[in-house]
Amino acid sequence: MEINSFEDFNLNRQLLNAVADLGYGQPTPIQQQAIPPVLAGQDVLGIAQTGTGKTAAYLLPLLMKIKYAQGVLPRAIILAPTRELVMQIDAAIAELGKYTDVRHLAIYGGIGPKTQIEALQKGVDILVSTPGRFTDLYLKGVIGVKQLNTMVLDEADKMMDMGFMPQIRKILEVIPVKRQNLLFSATFPPKVEELSYEFLEFPTRVEVTPQASTAEMVSQKLYEVPNFRTKINLLAHLLADENATNRVIVFTRSKESADNIYKFLARKVVADDRIRVLHANKGQNTRINSMEAFKEGNIRVLVTTDVTARGIDVNEVSHVINFDVPLIYEDYVHRIGRTGRANRTGEAVTFMTMAEEYHVAKIEKIIRMEIPREPIPEGIEITETPFDERQDMLREIDNQRRKEDPTFKGAFHEKKHQPAPRGKATAGGKSARRPKSSTPARPGKPKAGPARNRRK
Ligand code: AMP
Repeated sequence: MEINSFEDFNLNRQLLNAVADLGYGQPTPIQQQAIPPVLAGQDVLGIAQTGTGKTAAYLLPLLMKIKYAQGVLPRAIILAPTRELVMQIDAAIAELGKYTDVRHLAIYGGIGPKTQIEALQKGVDILVSTPGRFTDLYLKGVIGVKQLNTMVLDEADKMMDMGFMPQIRKILEVIPVKRQNLLFSATFPPKVEELSYEFLEFPTRVEVTPQASTAEMVSQKLYEVPNFRTKINLLAHLLADENATNRVIVFTRSKESADNIYKFLARKVVADDRIRVLHANKGQNTRINSMEAFKEGNIRVLVTTDVTARGIDVNEVSHVINFDVPLIYEDYVHRIGRTGRANRTGEAVTFMTMAEEYHVAKIEKIIRMEIPREPIPEGIEITETPFDERQDMLREIDNQRRKEDPTFKGAFHEKKHQPAPRGKATAGGKSARRPKSSTPARPGKPKAGPARNRRK
């Protein structure tokens, strides 16, 4: 059965309300496949990359199982390779479990254990940890493992690469044998396969396979754009030609930017009865009406957020414009699949700031091709990046680097005391190298044709 709504899962109201607050419209493919077997208590092997919604795929059924605070000892342990990921998972528990009283704790190395030990002693239901810190604290005698009945290994391939296998084996030796096991991994190399034999019992295997074929059928373009304002200028330029761009969906990451873009376009670029904005704050009826009008061709431009867009099924869109790079990477594939269906004249256009290069690289891995870069057309005003926006982007780049490399301490903070570093290694993008006061970056200028910036 195709599951199109979270309501179709056997989840309780507290969890469904939290999901609604997060604005998730539809379950992602990995959620559709993994939630039912995990809820049924089975061991699950999930092959899914970051960006597919895999965290909620195991957290929702786990929260359903743990339900509420009970006793002192943890009942579930989630192991993840890096401190960054541990913190992210813990934050996701906080969000998804906000209407429950489930107590969760993130523990990791790099800081003294005192606070973590105190928190453990107060009572924890779900513990999220790196393998190393878990072992340390277990050996200190401060983690009681007797009540553990669920164990999750997240990003198992990375844990194998980082040499955590011996620690994981030791942990498996000390925790109760009777438990549910979940293993998530982006890839399935022999080491992970071996681990799955040791760790899982008659697992249900779920997998989201990247679909590359759609991507190859549609013409794709990517513009490197330094900031929000310039993205707006470029968007206005692309939409100015009504004949070329006659049915366009503009995807943005947040409701706020969807609203801002809509207001700007309706005021300056597109007649306001030919454009609509669609996001989770709009009532269901408004959303349905806008969709209908768009399908019938009465609306030329639909501005929408990532989340609301999941359910949209409109054929023959002339352009999909990713104003922001999607964070659920598979959405990129789904989106561009919406364009060019009938006559293949569709185009998928993506705007990318330096902070989004990281996500584009992940998408390119999934679609197994490089999205061709295009220079920003002449005549488009490239504005200087405001200080705050630039700082936000640098901070984001730091977080991305930390995610990839747990030993990375962060260039962003050093930057306060040093002149802007040279070279790509630190800031992750060309425009980042420029001192703030210089002429704004013009990332799209044709330096070496559309295929520059190769990273594979
Ligand atoms: P993950 O693959 O778990 O790292 O999730 C990637 C991002 O997708 C996170 O920001 C989640 O909040 C978001 N997300 C997870 N599930 C959904 C969903 N069903 N719809 C929209 N966004 C989601």
